Formats: sequence, C-alpha cells, structure tokens
Amino acid sequence: MTSTKRIVRWETYERDKNNLLVSKWQNHYIVLNLGTGKGKSKKAHEVRQYKVSKDEAGNVSCTCDDFLKNNSVCKHQLAVWVKARTEKKQQNEERKARVLQAVSKW
Ligand SMILES: [Zn+2]
Repeated sequence: MTSTKRIVRWETYERDKNNLLVSKWQNHYIVLNLGTGKGKSKKAHEVRQYKVSKDEAGNVSCTCDDFLKNNSVCKHQLAVWVKARTEKKQQNEERKARVLQAVSKW
C-alpha cells in the first residue's frame, strides 16, 4: 500500500465534525453520523453508523464506502483520532490535577 494513494479527508471532516458522534467500545469505536438535517436529500437526515477499528498491526479500518472503495483516511477515522487525542490530553491533565492536589495536602 502506498501512502500517496491515501487521501486525507480533513475537508469533509471539518465540514461534518459537529455531526459526528464518537463512542468508544471495548476494542473499537462507533461513529454515528447524525446528518446535517439540512436540505431535502434523504441522506442529510438519516443517522448512519460506522465502525472504526484498529488491527494488531496498527492498521485502521472503517466500514464506510469511502474507506472501502478508496482506501482513504475517512472523516470517521479522523473523528476517532481527534477524540482519542483529546481524551489522552484530558487524562494527562487529570493526572496532573491529582498530583497537585496530593502535593497541596502535605
Ligand atoms: Zn469511514
């Protein structure tokens, strides 16, 4: 697999991020695309669900058409990546806060 074939979907992610709901499961993520609710197309109103998972080799896959057809980094993967990164940051900050709390009790 060549990396040049992979198209990163930042533009579609930026456009749709407010409609993407990421929830973490045991070993994968579920991304719900709530749709924009705008426009007359059916697609804009329906809720779609995608599963984003990572295999042991670290390859991320998604169940959406974009990934299956183009093998590209889709917006769902980006949504998961952003969420995972944010959670890690939060964890670090919570840990820091706990340490500071413990220190202040001395
Ligand atoms: Zn996808």
